[in-house]
Amino acid sequence: MKWSQSLLYTLKEAPSDAEIISHKLMIRAGMMKKLAPGIYTYGNLGLRAIRKFENIIREELNRRGCQEILMPMVHPKELWEETNRWEEMGAGLLKFKNRNDQSFCLGATHEEAVTDYVRNDLRSYKDLPRNLYQIQTKYRDEIRPRFGLMRGREFIMKDAYSFDMNQIEALKSYELMYSGYKAIFDRLGAKYRIVQADAGNIGGSQTHEFQLLADAGEDALLVSDTTSYAANVEVCPAIDFEPHISQEVIKPKEKFETPNQKTIADLSKFTQVSEKELVKTLFFSANDGTNPKDKSLKPVAVLLRGSDELNPIKLKNVLGLTNPPQMLTDLEVREVTGANPGSCGPVGLKIPVYMDNGVSGLRNYIVGANEDGYHLRNVNHGHDYQVTLQADLRLAREGDKCPESSGKLKSYRGIEVGHVFYLGKKYSEKMKATFLDQQGKAQFFEMGCYGIGVTRTVQAIIEQLHDQDGIVWPKAIAPFHIHICLLDVKNDIVKNKAFEFYDKLQNLGFDVLIDDRDERPGFKFKDADLLGMPYRLNVGAKGLEAGELEIIERKTKTVHKVKVEEVIHFLKQALNT
Ligand code: ATP
Ligand code: MG
Repeated sequence: MKWSQSLLYTLKEAPSDAEIISHKLMIRAGMMKKLAPGIYTYGNLGLRAIRKFENIIREELNRRGCQEILMPMVHPKELWEETNRWEEMGAGLLKFKNRNDQSFCLGATHEEAVTDYVRNDLRSYKDLPRNLYQIQTKYRDEIRPRFGLMRGREFIMKDAYSFDMNQIEALKSYELMYSGYKAIFDRLGAKYRIVQADAGNIGGSQTHEFQLLADAGEDALLVSDTTSYAANVEVCPAIDFEPHISQEVIKPKEKFETPNQKTIADLSKFTQVSEKELVKTLFFSANDGTNPKDKSLKPVAVLLRGSDELNPIKLKNVLGLTNPPQMLTDLEVREVTGANPGSCGPVGLKIPVYMDNGVSGLRNYIVGANEDGYHLRNVNHGHDYQVTLQADLRLAREGDKCPESSGKLKSYRGIEVGHVFYLGKKYSEKMKATFLDQQGKAQFFEMGCYGIGVTRTVQAIIEQLHDQDGIVWPKAIAPFHIHICLLDVKNDIVKNKAFEFYDKLQNLGFDVLIDDRDERPGFKFKDADLLGMPYRLNVGAKGLEAGELEIIERKTKTVHKVKVEEVIHFLKQALNT
């Protein structure tokens, strides 16, 4: 591509809403431009990287017997009502009506659409297994779109769906996709981890996330220092390295005054008891809003050590909810306990009480008295109040024990770029999608679904691969392999030579960008560094006179002086390795 004829542009400054480096660099490199929050136009450079990544995905999936299809973006309401997700997905689904007052939504994911696609045409066990995939634009009305393509509203996803005759076969399909994903992300040359993830409430499900490691990642990961164990913090069991088990004898509880002690930190200072020996009481509604017609408040109390944080996903799973439960407002807490949140505790409550494992080893602890300005000391579970269920409810953290060994967990940040999910019969049962087995009996399909955030991955790669001057593209998805800087635009000999290289390299199958603008060399070099193609070739009068041109490797900034007649050979070698 000739820069002079393109719509490429670069910016010195990134807009103020670009918080993370990859977002800044993509905007500055003109790879994308915001049209509305979470909605972007991909410029030519951005689209080239996206298409290259899509082709890597295609190659690896086609090789594994998957078939590409393309499903609609607009779905009728009736389809989503079959699985109850019209309601369950809440405001994340963008819903609208057409001129005939019929309701539709924009596709946020395609389990329903793909199950509908196969349910009448995949008839026999002889037709199985099948794996269908598409690469398509999704729309999710994210509450807070941010970080550019990382959390967009409109974004490109590859979604695949497998159909099998039984669980054993379905898990084989899962393994095949898992290995396919490994091959895909290995080809990108990125640092990633495969972690266990939340499977929601689908019994017996298994699921893994592919996480690109980056400090700006939204996901917290915990990785064993001894085994291959790795999990999203959402599902990581929290096991104290040295569990605290008090041997104290139970003492009679007593009320004491704690004026203005609202937080655990205040109370710890006031009572001289460490936060990890205090017990805090949190209140949630087990009505998670999944059914909009049910407006009832079903309060539950959750007890944790003062130093621990609740893991809302664990609570969601313990309560069997679809979405994480809502915290009660201060007003609702008052209704339930008679006191403000800072003075609440489990004694005398008439609602279910869920206790985190960490509290079980404590004795004679302090909790709120359910009376403003008062707490109780020497409180004991099973004695002063009853526990509905003890469970692992806290967030695991660095230093906790590895669930599989005597090792410790170490924390990382990650960007979820892919997700493999064994679904079982969740969708096929609800949508009555069956095939005939060997005995001629109708059976529900065993399904799996597999997503890759295409646009998110492209940006995540930049988040991982950049330096102070700009992007450092891996060859696999670099928009161009070679960036030629034509240094003396007005010198015909130089110009002809540069275009000779341009033609020859393109004929060899390389993607070549030539900066043929009438600009100073320094200006062009800065832009080349920002855009980050793997190799830059400088073609100028001085070099040609000396018979040697400079080829600069973007990643290492190594400058190679290469004889003019060896330039092509050098680049061929460098890029084919
Ligand atoms: P997240 O937890 O980040 O919201 P998710 O688990 O809801 O994502 P999936 O339904 O598993 O997402 O979608 C498959 C893949 O699509 C994800 O692994 C992610 O890479 C990508 N993805 C999901 N939501 C977005 C978004 N808002 N913007 C860009 N990519 C996204
Ligand atoms: Mg996911």
